[in-house]
Amino acid sequence: MTNKIDRSGLSPRFWEKKPLDKLSDKEWEALCDGCGKCCLNKLEDEDTGEVALTRVACRLLDDRTCQCAHYETRHKFIPECISLKPENLDTHAYWMPQTCAYRRLWKGEPLPDWHPLLTGDPNSVHAAGVSVQGWTVSEFDTPEEDWEDHIIEEPLG
Ligand code: SF4
Ligand code: SF4
Repeated sequence: MTNKIDRSGLSPRFWEKKPLDKLSDKEWEALCDGCGKCCLNKLEDEDTGEVALTRVACRLLDDRTCQCAHYETRHKFIPECISLKPENLDTHAYWMPQTCAYRRLWKGEPLPDWHPLLTGDPNSVHAAGVSVQGWTVSEFDTPEEDWEDHIIEEPLG
């Protein structure tokens, strides 16, 4: 979910005025705070269903910008990458990062005050220390059996 995000020309606080399934595509995309955390590999306990995020990032994540290096063509390389939509949010919200705007709104929580839609500054997610900027490790260099050593605490920021 990390593409370059266009937040221009949107109505103020549109997310408080409409349900998620009534948002335009542009409004939906603008909700993403650009943290990049949904592009981290996760570990899921088969018995408890508990999910832990790791600092091992998807090979396409650029951790300087926190964006996907090939967002439009990513499914050629990473077929399992999800396209989050209002229709599949119920299925995916459980593993989304705790700070994720989609998960928060799905749970009936407000957007955090560092969210770029509230600050008007796309860098506020990085300044708040919530994004993955500069601290991921490569999945090429990190064998899956070592991912447990890279589990991160949530929430960040
Ligand atoms: S975790 Fe949520 S807010 Fe952060 S990049 Fe992914 S979709 Fe966007
Ligand atoms: S392909 Fe990887 S980096 Fe790109 S959006 Fe999907 S998980 Fe994120």
